[in-house]
Amino acid sequence: MHDDFDETRRRLLLSGSLGLASTFYAGGGSAATPSGSTTVVDEGTVIGGKVTFPPIDAASETPGNPPPNPDPAGQRVGFAVVGLGRLALQNILPAFAQSKHARLAGLVSGDPAKMRIIAAQYGVPRDACYGYEEMARLGGNAAIQVVYVVLPNALHRHAVIQAAQAGKHVLCEKPMATSADEAREMIAACRGADRKLMIAYRCQYEVNNRELAKRARSGELGRIQFVDAINTQNQGDPTQWRQIKRLSGGGSLPDVGLYCLNTTRALLGEEPIEVLARIHSPDQDDRFREVESTVSFVLRFPSGILANCVSSYSVHTQRNFRVLGSDASAEITNAFAYEGQKLHITRRDGQAEANIQLSLAVRNQFSLEMDHMALCVRKNVEPRTPGEEGLQDQILMAAIYQSAQTGQPVALAPVLRQDAYRGSPLDNDFD
Ligand code: NDP
Repeated sequence: MHDDFDETRRRLLLSGSLGLASTFYAGGGSAATPSGSTTVVDEGTVIGGKVTFPPIDAASETPGNPPPNPDPAGQRVGFAVVGLGRLALQNILPAFAQSKHARLAGLVSGDPAKMRIIAAQYGVPRDACYGYEEMARLGGNAAIQVVYVVLPNALHRHAVIQAAQAGKHVLCEKPMATSADEAREMIAACRGADRKLMIAYRCQYEVNNRELAKRARSGELGRIQFVDAINTQNQGDPTQWRQIKRLSGGGSLPDVGLYCLNTTRALLGEEPIEVLARIHSPDQDDRFREVESTVSFVLRFPSGILANCVSSYSVHTQRNFRVLGSDASAEITNAFAYEGQKLHITRRDGQAEANIQLSLAVRNQFSLEMDHMALCVRKNVEPRTPGEEGLQDQILMAAIYQSAQTGQPVALAPVLRQDAYRGSPLDNDFD
């Protein structure tokens, strides 16, 4: 089939009817024209099972995305998604379509009718659908290698432990748990079962956040002195699990404030040595009977850098992240959103102030995150955001709550190693 197609294309080129086309094609193979000269055929190059094309634009042009070269479906790492709620249905299941190394191989839900519909939509076999009480049976399904836990926060611990005991690697939504002790149990269970545990800190895989971290760490902004991170949203229904402390573990801090905390730590690579926090919730508001609304906290790092972070459940959406250095400042608007990030850099340009907006090729951050986990399983390396990264955030959030309660700063033991709680670097995981 391929040979016939190849032959037809070459004959067309030889006939001269694609004389115009042949001038467009550049690079790749070549074929003789009737006049005896050589016409270049741009057929791409196959190296190591991947197809690539040479650039056809001038070096002055921004290169487009290369072909994604996804793994064949049968060779991808199989994921089972546990909990078919909003995040799973709106973001995670659709993201498998843009994934290169992960595929949906199973579902776990407490609602069989919903699960049947979702299984049909995504082509999940009936015998790969489980109730929560059947999670031990995941062990018998060799097509499932990773279990992705997308349950309310307080239910993460039990599901992660069950998945590890069933012999599966685990990707767990943030916040990892509702306390540091739960997080430690989850790490111990996965380590005891010799399974990987990754926390789904999607912003560490999102391209704009990664680009800013790379530039900041390269020294492009000069000496970084201040970070400003804000993540807010106005909650509605006061009966949802996020407003019930025994299910959520807290209010805006573990839900949206965690992005300010984790993204700041990930960008700097340092760990805070002190936190100072204040909390405010509107009076007489049913949404805040059990959990807090606004949390304002300052982190102080060993290098002297200060980070000012704000989360809230009672103001309109704002999700921005700013990094101020001696030579330049940078901001990602919509930094913590699912999409719509814009990266701006402000610096001197001669006698002018330059405001640059970088437009990076759009990539689905959920797909990138799942692909990272899939590659870590395949290559047997530690994920960039392992359980220890989640545990450190639980420890810091406990310190933030303590500071807000006492009104005093809380000192933390210095951790002097760069990226102390992170696993393998992300440099090549677009492959
Ligand atoms: P939802 O309330 O929309 O869905 C949670 C699902 O969990 C339910 O649909 C249900 O699925 C299952 N579930 C099992 N037991 C309970 C229970 N007692 N109460 C409620 N649901 C239960 O939550 P989200 O999808 O928004 O959040 C799930 C997790 O994902 C949380 O940890 C959250 O922090 C995290 N999250 C992460 C985001 C990110 O950007 N990374 C964004 C949003 C959330 P079923 O009917 O199938 O059993």
